[in-house]
Amino acid sequence: MSRMRHSTKPLPKDDEYLHVHQMPYFLEALQDRLRTEKPDDPLEFVDRFVKSVPKPKLVIKGPPASGKGTQCEKLVRHLGVVHISTGDLLRTEVKNGTSVGKQVAAFMKDGSLVPDELVIAIVKKRLSEPDARQHGWLLDGFPRTAVQARMMRDEGIVPQAVMKLEVSREEVVSRIAGRRVDPATNKVYHATHRPPPPGVKVIQRPDDTAEAIVKRYDTYMQNANEVLKEYSCPIYAIEGGTEDVAAAQILSKYQKLRWTKLLNSKRSKL
Ligand code: ADP
Repeated sequence: MSRMRHSTKPLPKDDEYLHVHQMPYFLEALQDRLRTEKPDDPLEFVDRFVKSVPKPKLVIKGPPASGKGTQCEKLVRHLGVVHISTGDLLRTEVKNGTSVGKQVAAFMKDGSLVPDELVIAIVKKRLSEPDARQHGWLLDGFPRTAVQARMMRDEGIVPQAVMKLEVSREEVVSRIAGRRVDPATNKVYHATHRPPPPGVKVIQRPDDTAEAIVKRYDTYMQNANEVLKEYSCPIYAIEGGTEDVAAAQILSKYQKLRWTKLLNSKRSKL
């Protein structure tokens, strides 16, 4: 790990890019393998090495309005993963008037959790689609209970890391009052801090009432520890701060983990 960065001095912009993506780790891992294995055709080896890098499999957790949606957008842009939000999947079922939608509407409206078996079924289906298999995934809003977490593990759905966003109850309540959503794209805005672009019609979610938000926050806190206990992968606590600070922290922690693993798996076959 000779290239690990300890200084807090700002880096020139291009170097910052390399460090956010932890490219020094990647290059170090690659060179290390080349040195050890001395393949006859190094370029062909590089090609196999790049293809052997595991696709990201991440879980993001955080109370309602902790900025998960915004972080997910950034992670999709940086890592090319498929964002799977159980809240969005369930809202689509409700909007389309499907039989699942009819069963879950009332739970969602008052901020209660939807029964585990219904959520589990839609997550399994979404994860089996080709884009999620090809590009990796970022699970948002799932698992929310210990039962969901255990089921996930039993099905072999194992994340490489969990990113846990930490935001206080007061902050959540004050943020939610201004939250607005574009129902066409599920993009999240804030009435004052992040207004939608002109022409984008936004709505306030029916479950963004003061009572429902407090209930959702409390349910989240009650379940969070139980859910986290089910994981054996690293769990990183991310302090909110600004969106960009949180995103940089998530990316840097994930990339470091990813390349460190690769560096340590020297003898594994490509
Ligand atoms: P928030 O994080 O603001 O609560 P979400 O969009 O993640 O919003 O979820 C909205 C609602 O969808 C939840 O209040 C709950 O009713 C339902 N829901 C989403 N994910 C799950 C889940 N994993 N298990 C049970 N219910 C869920």
